[in-house]
Amino acid sequence: METVRTVAALRARVRAWRDAGERIALAPTMGALHEGHLSLVTLGRAHAERVVASIFVNPTQFGADEDLAAYPSDEARDAAMLERAGCDLIFAPGREEMYPPDFSTRVRVEGLTDCLCGAARPGHFDGVAQVVAKLLNQAQADVAIFGEKDWQQLVVIRRLARDLDIPTEILGAPIVREADGLAMSSRNRYLDEAQRVVAGHLNKVIFAAAGRIAGGAPVTAGMAAAAAALVTAGFDQVDYLECREAHSLAPVETFDPARPARVFAAARLGRARLIDNVPVEAVA
Ligand code: AMP
Repeated sequence: METVRTVAALRARVRAWRDAGERIALAPTMGALHEGHLSLVTLGRAHAERVVASIFVNPTQFGADEDLAAYPSDEARDAAMLERAGCDLIFAPGREEMYPPDFSTRVRVEGLTDCLCGAARPGHFDGVAQVVAKLLNQAQADVAIFGEKDWQQLVVIRRLARDLDIPTEILGAPIVREADGLAMSSRNRYLDEAQRVVAGHLNKVIFAAAGRIAGGAPVTAGMAAAAAALVTAGFDQVDYLECREAHSLAPVETFDPARPARVFAAARLGRARLIDNVPVEAVA
C-alpha cells in the first residue's frame, strides 16, 4: 500500500484503476485511526474494488481555541492499520498542497450548519465543507464514506455534494462503539482513567432519552433531564442535548414516528469534547 502526497499522484493512481474498470471508494480521515475509521474502509471495500483513505488534519475546521496543535498524529501506525483493513492507497497531503498561500475560496452550507456543532463551533462546518469539497474533487471516487458518529457532518456533506453536482455517492457508516458503548473517537485518548469511566455514560443517557421519546415521553423535559444526568455523571459541561429530525435537522417538539428523528449530544470532559447521536426508536 502506497502513500501519495500530491493531488497529481492521487489522480494518476485513480485514473489507472478507473481505466481498468475498477470502482473507487474514498474514506476521508484526520488520522489517529481506530476501528471506527477502519469500518469506513471495510464499507468502501463492499462498494468498490479500490479504497483510498485520506489523512489530513484540516486546520480550517478548528476554532482558534481548539486542539489543532495537540491533535494526535502517528502516520506509521495509521498506515499499518489501513493496510490490514484492506486499504489500497493513502492520500496524505501537506498543508501547502491543500492550501497554497493565495488560497481564496470558501465553501458554506447554510441552514444545516446553524445548529448543534455548528452553533457550538462557529466556522467549523465551513472548514469541513471546504476540505471535503476539495477531497471529493481531488479523488473523483465513485463513493465516499463518512461516519454516522458525525451525523450532522454527514447531512451537511450530502447536501454539499447534491448542491454542487459532485457525482460521488455519499454513504454513511454506522457508529463503532467501545464495549461500554462509548463512540470511538480519536479524542477519547485525551481522557484519563476516571474520565473514561464517566465518558461511558454519554451513550447510555442519550439511548435512554431516545427510548423514552419513542415511547411518547415529552421531548423538551426529556432533553433537560438527560442533560442534567450528564452533569450528575461527571461531565463538565453539556454543549447541547437535543432531539432533531434526522435529515432536515429541524427541532422535534413532539415525536412523530413517521418522521425519523435522532437525539444529539455534545459534552465536555476534561480536554475532550465528546459527541454522539442515536435514533429515536422503541427500545427492544
Ligand atoms: P475524523 O478522523 O475524526 O475526522 O473522522 C473521519 C471519519 O471517520 C468521519 O467520517 C467520522 O464520522 C468517522 N468516524 C469517526 N469515528 C467513528 C466511529 N466511532 N464510528 C464510525 N465512524 C467514525
